Amino acid sequence: MSKVIVIGGGPAGLMAASQAALYGNSVTLLEKNPRTGRKLVITGKGRCNITNACDNDTFISNVVTNPRFLYSAINGFDTSDTVSFFNALGLETKVERGNRVFPTSDRAMDVADALLNYARNCGVKIISNTTVSALIVEDGSIKGVKDSEGKAYFSDYVILATGGKSYPLTGSTGDGYKLAEEVGHTITDIVPSLVPLTLKGNECKEMQGLSLRNISLSVTDNGKKVFEDFGELVFAHYGVSGPVILSASSHLKDIGKKSYKLHIDLKPALDYETLDKRLIRDFEKFNLKEVSNSFSELLPSKIIPIVIKRWGIDPKTRCNSVTKEQRKALAFILKNLDFEITGTRPIDEAIITRGGVKVSEINPKTMESKLIRHLYFCGEVLDVDAYTGGFNIQIAFSTGFLAGQLL
Ligand SMILES: Cc1cc2nc3c(=O)[nH]c(=O)nc-3n(C[C@H](O)[C@H](O)[C@H](O)COP(=O)(O)OP(=O)(O)OC[C@H]3O[C@@H](n4cnc5c(N)ncnc54)[C@H](O)[C@@H]3O)c2cc1C
Repeated sequence: MSKVIVIGGGPAGLMAASQAALYGNSVTLLEKNPRTGRKLVITGKGRCNITNACDNDTFISNVVTNPRFLYSAINGFDTSDTVSFFNALGLETKVERGNRVFPTSDRAMDVADALLNYARNCGVKIISNTTVSALIVEDGSIKGVKDSEGKAYFSDYVILATGGKSYPLTGSTGDGYKLAEEVGHTITDIVPSLVPLTLKGNECKEMQGLSLRNISLSVTDNGKKVFEDFGELVFAHYGVSGPVILSASSHLKDIGKKSYKLHIDLKPALDYETLDKRLIRDFEKFNLKEVSNSFSELLPSKIIPIVIKRWGIDPKTRCNSVTKEQRKALAFILKNLDFEITGTRPIDEAIITRGGVKVSEINPKTMESKLIRHLYFCGEVLDVDAYTGGFNIQIAFSTGFLAGQLL
C-alpha cells in the first residue's frame, strides 16, 4: 500500500484521491478551506454544469489551450462517464441547451456532496483547514509536502490539484503555480479567461444593468473577424459581461497589445431592407412626434440616448422629416454598435485561469511530472482551458481520474 497525498479538494483533487484510494493506496487529501468543493458550489450560477453531453472530438474542439494534451485523459474518462458516475452515486442529471449537463435538482451543492461522500466511501482521509506551502523533493523524487505550519506529511506520491487563480475567495489562489515552480516546473503566463470585457468610453456606464437578449456579436482584430456568436450580454459600468461576452473572451489574447473591436448587431433577425421597412413604419406611426420618442417599440429605453447620440441627429427632429439617408445611417448603427475593447476585468472575476503548469513538462498519458518522479498534476492548475458549457469541470474530472491511477 503506497501513501498518497492529494493537494486540493476541488473536482480534480476529489476525483484523483478517490481513484488512488480505489487502487488500494492510503490517500490523504489536504484542503486549505474548512470544506472541499467551495468553488464547485458556485459553478453554473449555483447549479453546476458538470459536463457537456458531447463526443470526444467535440469536447477536444471546445478546449482552447493545449487540446491535444487531453486526448488520453478524455479517452480514459469521457463526458458520458461523468454522467454515469454521478447517476451511479444517485445524482440524477438532465441535459439543457447546448448539451450542458446539470444535476436534476439544480443544486451544485448536491454535486459537491456526492463527490465528497464518494471520496470518503473510497477511503480517502480528508484533512481540511490545511494549506500546503512546499513540496518535499529528494533526488528528483517527491517525498511529501509541508503545510504552512511547517508540519511535514511524507508520502510516496503527491497529486497537485490546487486549481487556478480566479475567484480566490474559493481557495484557488494560485498556490499550485508557486509549488510547481519551486521544484523546477515552468508556469506559462497566467491571465483571466471567460471574463467580462472592459470597453472604451462612458456609454456602457450609461447603459449599466441593461441586458440585451438575442443580439448577434462579433469581435474583430484589425478588421479580421476572430469571434462571432448570438446570445445575451449585459452592460456594466466598466463594459460588458454575460454569456456571449465570456465566450468571446476565450478567443482574445494580449488584449492590451491588439486592436480588438466589439460589434453588436441589435437587430440580427432583420436584414437592412427589412429593417428599413420597419423604420419607415415606425416613423409613419409616430409621424409628428420627436424621433427621441419614437423608439420605445424598437429598443430598450437605456440604449435609446446612445443610439441617438451616435446617429448625430437632433433628438427634437420630427419623425415625418427623417430622410432616407438618415434612416440608412440609423439602420447601420443598429446593426453595428461598435466599441473598442480595452481589456478584461481582473482574474478575481474570471471563470477560469488561462496558463499554468507547462504541459510539455507533464506526461499526457499519466499526468506525471517529467521532472519530478511520482509528482502528478490535474485540473485547472495545468495550462489547459476550455469554453463554457461544462468543459472545464470535465477537464478536472478526466485529468483527476487519470492522475489518480498513478501510472
Ligand atoms: C463562478 C464560476 C462558475 C463556474 N461554472 C462552471 C460550470 O458551470 N461548469 C464548468 O465546467 N466550469 C465552471 N467553472 C470552472 C470550474 O469551477 C473550474 O474549472 C474547476 O473548479 C477546476 O477544478 P480544480 O479541482 O482544478 O480546482 P478548484 O475547483 O479551484 O479546486 C482547487 C482546490 O484546491 C484548494 N487549494 C488551493 N491551494 C491549496 C493549498 N496550498 N493547500 C491546500 N489546498 C489548496 C482550494 O481551496 C480548492 O478547494 C466555474 C468557475 C467559476 C469561478
